[in-house]
Amino acid sequence: MSASETEHRMIHLFGGQDSRPHGGKSALGEKGWRLASMSALGAPVPPGLILPAHYTGEAAKNGGRLPDSVRRALREALSQLEEITGRRFGDESRPLRLSVRSSPPRPVPFSIGSVLNLGVTEKIAHSMEQATKQVTEQATVNDTVNDTGGGAKDSTKDSAKDSTKDSTKDSTVGWDAYRRLIEGYGVQVLGLNGGGFEAVWNETMASEGVEGAHELGLEALRSLALGYREVVVAEGETPWPEDPMEQLYETVAAAYGAWNAEEAQNWRIDHGLEHLPGTGLVLQTMAGGTGQGHGVSKHGGSKHGGSKHGGSKYGDSKNSGAGRLITRVPATGEKKPHGNFLSHALGPDLSAGIRITGHITEMEQAAPEAYAGLLEWGERLEKHFQDAMDIQFTVENGTLAILSARPSQRTAKASLKIALALVEEEICDTRQGLIRVDPAVIDESMHPILDKAEAGQPIAKGLPASPGSAVGHAVFFAEQAVELAAQGVRTILIRNETTPEDIDGLKVAEGIITAHGGLTSHAAVVARGMGKCCIVGVGAISIDYLVNEMTVGDHQIKRMDWISMDGASGEIFAAELPQIQPTLDGGIATVLGWADAVRRLGVYANADTAEDARHALEQGAGGIGLCRTEHMFFEIDRIPLFRKMILALDQIGRAAALAELLPLQRKDFMAIFRVMEDRPVTIRLLDPPLNEYLPKGIRSQTRMARAMGIPVETIQQRTEALSETNPMMGHRGCRLAITYPEIYNMQVRAIVEAACIVKKEGVQVNPEIMVPLISTSKELSLIRKDIERLVTQVTGELGETIAFRIGTMLETPRAALSARSIARLADFFSFGTNDLTQMSYGFSRDDAGMFLPVYLEKGILDKDPFMEFDQEGTGRLVEMAVKEGREANPDLKLGVCGEHGGDPRSVKFFHQVGLDYVSCSPFRVPVARLAAGQAAVEAQAD
Ligand code: PEP
Ligand code: MG
Repeated sequence: MSASETEHRMIHLFGGQDSRPHGGKSALGEKGWRLASMSALGAPVPPGLILPAHYTGEAAKNGGRLPDSVRRALREALSQLEEITGRRFGDESRPLRLSVRSSPPRPVPFSIGSVLNLGVTEKIAHSMEQATKQVTEQATVNDTVNDTGGGAKDSTKDSAKDSTKDSTKDSTVGWDAYRRLIEGYGVQVLGLNGGGFEAVWNETMASEGVEGAHELGLEALRSLALGYREVVVAEGETPWPEDPMEQLYETVAAAYGAWNAEEAQNWRIDHGLEHLPGTGLVLQTMAGGTGQGHGVSKHGGSKHGGSKHGGSKYGDSKNSGAGRLITRVPATGEKKPHGNFLSHALGPDLSAGIRITGHITEMEQAAPEAYAGLLEWGERLEKHFQDAMDIQFTVENGTLAILSARPSQRTAKASLKIALALVEEEICDTRQGLIRVDPAVIDESMHPILDKAEAGQPIAKGLPASPGSAVGHAVFFAEQAVELAAQGVRTILIRNETTPEDIDGLKVAEGIITAHGGLTSHAAVVARGMGKCCIVGVGAISIDYLVNEMTVGDHQIKRMDWISMDGASGEIFAAELPQIQPTLDGGIATVLGWADAVRRLGVYANADTAEDARHALEQGAGGIGLCRTEHMFFEIDRIPLFRKMILALDQIGRAAALAELLPLQRKDFMAIFRVMEDRPVTIRLLDPPLNEYLPKGIRSQTRMARAMGIPVETIQQRTEALSETNPMMGHRGCRLAITYPEIYNMQVRAIVEAACIVKKEGVQVNPEIMVPLISTSKELSLIRKDIERLVTQVTGELGETIAFRIGTMLETPRAALSARSIARLADFFSFGTNDLTQMSYGFSRDDAGMFLPVYLEKGILDKDPFMEFDQEGTGRLVEMAVKEGREANPDLKLGVCGEHGGDPRSVKFFHQVGLDYVSCSPFRVPVARLAAGQAAVEAQAD
């Protein structure tokens, strides 16, 4: 075994003659590693032990019991700790009290909570009581002597009186500790639900007429502790173990048991964390805070130079307490002390909510030197961990003890301010600064937020499909939105679902709500493309189009009633709520610059028009990863042409319609090429779910009949014939080209002609032609031949040579599984993760909105998989296709163009599996750039 492997297996002792932490986070866990680092730095950390993570597995192998080897190692380490502290575990005269806390290598659920005061027994509580009584008696004698002395005001006398008061109080400390031990042990180790303790607590408080244990006298506190013990005896399956060593072994075994439990293992497997070695465990000397004077190292903490305040006694102040210092304000990121302080308290009292805590600055009065020392350690720990910190501490008679420290929580807005400040103050470099930024800050900087302070309850909640907020009058038809917009009236368009026919209404409405559909439904995709607030799948809504109103529970919402919507939470309110405009004062461009400097992933945009393309470039896109050509027909005057093509009765009719479409497509492509110049432009051949384009309703059917010069009945029959039960799995994508090759032929001609014309104008072009929804290599081989033939033919006709990449989307599971054969026919793969998610789960994109909220509520899914990419399941298909695709074709370019391309966590996964680029709506390009940069830095840190 190498030296470092041995270190990984050793119990780490801190608070003595500290060495650098051995084993790192994977062996010691995050909490343990931080404590060990702080202690090595000379911080006044109460001494303790860290059991390495690999003991977790040893306990599992031993049927959940601690193996003898671990018990032996623990006993040996404990005696070293006793040596450092000058106290003995289980000893009545100088008891060593320990807290036990899990320290997993990264945050995971299913850990046990803290167990405090291990090492306290009834006898010890009793002897602590006696010991403090003796001090009290001594103090009273002194008091009397001083009184007899009479005379002027004597500070010694005052302090003796204080001490008398404190000591009387302190005689309860052992019992209070014993009570806390029994409760922690009962709940965390024995698995009691805590109800019995609560009943005894309530009874005691009521009979004593007080609100908290700190107000109880000695007798009451003693009987409270013994009452708790009776609860354990009555409810527990085993007798109360009064032997402290036995308690310690059982607590350690319970912590390992929680990690090894089947539910916890399944969770880690589901989250790709099965490789974690186990949980570290921190056994730390209890620090005081109640003035009792327990648990402080006899060496006084700092022997390593460092702070002038480090670990020394902070004067003779009798003041004691517990608190939290947060070095930068969580809401704003401002650099000033934040947090709280509670005098005469232990750490858990801070969060118990029984006593009102003061602001941290109040500590300055109570314990000025300890406060100064705390602030100094705040600065030092920020520098050491290169982040804003949240520090838990106690002060015992003026002596500071730091119990733990971790990076502080913060709002997205504060994360930006803190990252910029940390770099500015040279606390960290730009790479570290970058990973401190919460990507949510970008959405917040782009969209107004709903002010819900006076909002009351929402009337409904749906899936948050596109961020921001919107406030306007309810309308139920796109035409109403258009009419009202012309008069300057703000509207919210509410539909069961939207179709391309609604496009003008979608453009002018402030926000869009649909009763049906999931996060990749038509409304969701279009709204995201427009950067417009959208909520979908609001199952509680029932719309009556005939009378222009909707019912939601007890609410009737009529046309023109006020609606406010929150695109971040999916909440809908029947009111006109105020909106808060973004107030970020810059800084985003700076962090995006940091991200661009380090990211490996290209970030492209999903853009269907020249206008989108321009916007995409402004947002920093490096190309277009998806131009959905069917979206180019979303203009109201183009839909009839498109419908003519799909409703055509025969090939001649279709050819005529295609001939009309060709110049329109060519013009659009030319405009896009001119904007994008030599950047890649990936044009996807037609992939319409046909039902979205069929004329529904007699008005549009009559219009089509007139335009095509055929009876309306024929249109109705044709519409009927083309209707599908599962359109998303129906006659879509390349299947259209297999049945009607002339459609793709027209599109390819339009693309090639456009590229040649623009190139002749002197503009470099970089076109990529993408075939959607293939599931076999034969589909691609057939279609690729047609594309190649046309490229040769048209470039020949126009006398140009242009390199075209021809690739495919990978969006059916079968295509992913056949990546090897498909890769030989493709220059690139673009993962269509919307369809891949739909098809791997078997969740319909259009209908999943009906049940996904329940899945989320019940915790079956952590996240909507249409929003955050499912790494464990669908991700395996991507990983496999990337590996096998590259093996078959080393030049294969790999990207993703589903909506996940703009989701930060998904982007990190796509980085890890080795894609070359992600593509997303132009509005999400900055988020993707930031996430791609963070992924690059985090990958190097792993
Ligand atoms: C996809 O399926 O991920 C995709 C980008 O295509 P669409 O959403 O248009 O089906
Ligand atoms: Mg698709």
